[in-house]
Amino acid sequence: MYVYDTLSRKKIKFKSIRKNVVYFYTCGPSVYSTPHLGNFRTYVFEDVVKRTLKFLGYEVRHVMNITDIEDKAVRAAKGNLKKLLKITQNNTKVFIRNSNELGILPPDIRPKATRHIKQMVKLIKQLLKNKMAYKDEKGNVFFDVSSFSGYGRLSGTRFKRELGGRVYKDDYYQFEAGDFLLWKAWKKGDGDIYWKTELGKGRPGWHIECSAMSMYYLGEQFDIHMGGIDNVFSHHENEIAQSESVTGSKLANYWIHVRHLLIEGKKMSKSLGNFYTVEDIHRMGYRFDAIRFTLMGEHYRKRLNFTFKGLEECAQELKYCKARFSALKRGRFWKENPVADKRGTDALLEFKKYLENDLDISNAIGVFCSYLRKVEEFIKKKQFGDRNAKRACEVVEKMDSVMGLIEEC
Ligand SMILES: [Zn+2]
Repeated sequence: MYVYDTLSRKKIKFKSIRKNVVYFYTCGPSVYSTPHLGNFRTYVFEDVVKRTLKFLGYEVRHVMNITDIEDKAVRAAKGNLKKLLKITQNNTKVFIRNSNELGILPPDIRPKATRHIKQMVKLIKQLLKNKMAYKDEKGNVFFDVSSFSGYGRLSGTRFKRELGGRVYKDDYYQFEAGDFLLWKAWKKGDGDIYWKTELGKGRPGWHIECSAMSMYYLGEQFDIHMGGIDNVFSHHENEIAQSESVTGSKLANYWIHVRHLLIEGKKMSKSLGNFYTVEDIHRMGYRFDAIRFTLMGEHYRKRLNFTFKGLEECAQELKYCKARFSALKRGRFWKENPVADKRGTDALLEFKKYLENDLDISNAIGVFCSYLRKVEEFIKKKQFGDRNAKRACEVVEKMDSVMGLIEEC
């Protein structure tokens, strides 16, 4: 399989560190609010990557964290720990429910940041010891980006001018360059949201959360790290700096990033009134499988234009495919036709070829749809037998192990 690696900026051949097992880390949501449709484009595609690896015969060890502490969460809870827990627990539930509804396979481990403060403190202490981090007069601990020579390599940004400043914000998604927070010292507005640790009273920064949890569950070096394109800078750039400064080894061998989603050609935003969650769309009368299908409708390195016309077409196509599949399962047919079997084998090979070429799921799904139409032709001409039907079902099931559209949604 070839994948486009953001760090090396080219398609490279995939090879796992361990034989037949892939260690896989994906950045999870910040649960200060409910993840929106755009977030789910990324999560659905991450699911496609994981399913593709399984299709190709790998086992996958998948960790997806839950960010349940960062500036936005503290603001939403107005400095009240009880409220914070209530908000983050509720939104985590919604996130997991939406993931299941969209046919996303659950990760093996779904660690919460607030349960791994100890591991984060340990990392920060090591960075302080190595003189790659420093404490300011208020007790905040910053990572000194000038201490890490590879800083900016992932995003391809030159920082010479901007460097030297400090970024005090710790919002989920922040794009400013400069020394970034590892530990945020407690201040009045934080109320009773803090941890008392060797670093003082406060809480970890967002970036260190992922470095600590990925290292804890997957080791110092793992195979694939994924996230939305918004994560490239600064989150993933910062993760690399933190982790590699401590371990001295490359954090992840492949960095895969998913581009944005547009709604009817426009950026999704609350001010434009086109901001949707998965449940909003479902309430408008669309099935979750059709939503999943639509979210897979474009190559992950291109923006996906989500339109209601497209969603409607996907819903119709899926209805057709499901009906064909159940007819194949139940049907009684005619004389066996070796050409029909050959057609299935060829379709499966073509399907695989698309996935192996930088995970081209939209074209792979195209192969699946035209295969079912071809089968329908054989049936109409009565050139199809019961054993052909059994084989065709196997082909569909194998393809659907990646698509997750026919049986699981
Ligand atoms: Zn992360």
